[in-house]
Amino acid sequence: MNTDIYLVLKDVTCPSCGSRIVLMEDRKFVWLGCERCRIFVRITKSSISRKVRGKTFPWRDIIRDLISTLYQVCQQ
Ligand SMILES: [Zn+2]
Repeated sequence: MNTDIYLVLKDVTCPSCGSRIVLMEDRKFVWLGCERCRIFVRITKSSISRKVRGKTFPWRDIIRDLISTLYQVCQQ
């Protein structure tokens, strides 16, 4: 995947294999998931910009939502 941002989250691990979860950004999406299991969830950047209130960028909410979606996907 060709990404602008690649972050390994320190305290979040994959519910399936225990690997560290990564957060990536490309032109259109922010992705969160496990590279080992090749399971990713994504959110469009336009929907992120709709969540921004004033000067506050809601990273915590966005990452929390992506993580909970990933956990739901892994439990299926
Ligand atoms: Zn995994």
